[in-house]
Amino acid sequence: MKTHFIPVADPSRQYFDYAEAFQAAAAHVLEGGRYILGREVNVFEAAFARYIGVRYGVAVNSGTDALIVALKALGIGAGDEVITVSHTAVATVAAIELVGAVPVLVDVQPDTRCLDPDLLSAALSERTKALLPVHLYGQPADMAAIMAFAKDHHLWVIEDCAQAHGASVAGRKVGSFGDLACFSFYPTKNLGAFGDGGAVLTDRPKLAEQLRLVREYGWHERYISEIPGMNTRLDELQAAFLNLKLGLLTEENQKRREIAYHYLSRLEGSQFGTPVMAEGTEHAMHLFVIETDHRDKLQEYLSQNGVGTAIHYPVPIHLQPAYLGRLRGSDSLPVTERLAKRILSLPMYPQLSIEDVDRVCDLLLQFARSS
Ligand SMILES: *Cc1c(COP(=O)(O)O)cnc(C)c1O
Repeated sequence: MKTHFIPVADPSRQYFDYAEAFQAAAAHVLEGGRYILGREVNVFEAAFARYIGVRYGVAVNSGTDALIVALKALGIGAGDEVITVSHTAVATVAAIELVGAVPVLVDVQPDTRCLDPDLLSAALSERTKALLPVHLYGQPADMAAIMAFAKDHHLWVIEDCAQAHGASVAGRKVGSFGDLACFSFYPTKNLGAFGDGGAVLTDRPKLAEQLRLVREYGWHERYISEIPGMNTRLDELQAAFLNLKLGLLTEENQKRREIAYHYLSRLEGSQFGTPVMAEGTEHAMHLFVIETDHRDKLQEYLSQNGVGTAIHYPVPIHLQPAYLGRLRGSDSLPVTERLAKRILSLPMYPQLSIEDVDRVCDLLLQFARSS
């Protein structure tokens, strides 16, 4: 019997479901003649900020740039320390170094796989300026504890929400807790463009102003640089696509969670570690990540049986060639290092059918019986 291949993510499915609308939106921008920072971007910035529950949105060129612009807007630079995690996309740590600051790494909690607030005290120094928690895989980090620590020690909080568009805690969306929140619209993210994109959100007018200055050459008025800035603008085409996609996000996140609950019910009691879906917390289910001692063999087995998987991420940042042996905190990240050997991301996207989830689970349970 021939079965179809199940990819780990499939961003073109959404395009095909709404092809006419996307094409019309593109034509509208192309015919309008304004291609950078125009109406579509303005509409998107306001709508996305409202969706998350803050007042201001500043759209930029990528999630990495969102982090850089956020750090620069806070005046964080040479000699300043920013506490973050090693169990994340390289962008989180890279951005801190790209503004000249020093990343200080702490370990993650084994259940949420996000920054462990109990480890913040030991990582704190006189140079600490900010905390940069990551809501990894769509799982909210423990923002209550992180915000309390930040308040006690007068630190800024920048949330890396690149994988958590729409995740919430007690009805409040991630991205509305910290001083600034950074989002990526990379095509496979829960809210993804057909290209690169990102945004920084904030509820503070002064910071919003600063973000806008940093985004475009320090311009308040065109051609007059008030501060040294950069160029990281979102284009109108991507903003037009994002305006359409934002309208689909709530329903798509709900579909992701239904898929996740199906995985969880099928895998309950098996040898596989599964994501926690805590009471009162809405996981954005960007990635459905299981844990197993036999990760590489399992990945091979699934691949041979037509199921795509991925590893987010195979090598923690502090063990990658560019960073090896030189990042603060690198010597005490046992949970991070253990996760990197055991994690596997299963197929997860809103259009994934329950039949396909069942096929993946059948294979997982078969593998478990034979290993
Ligand atoms: C995707 C991602 C980024 C970077 O976003 P880009 O748009 O690819 O630059 C940053 N942090 C995390 C956690 C991410 O997953």
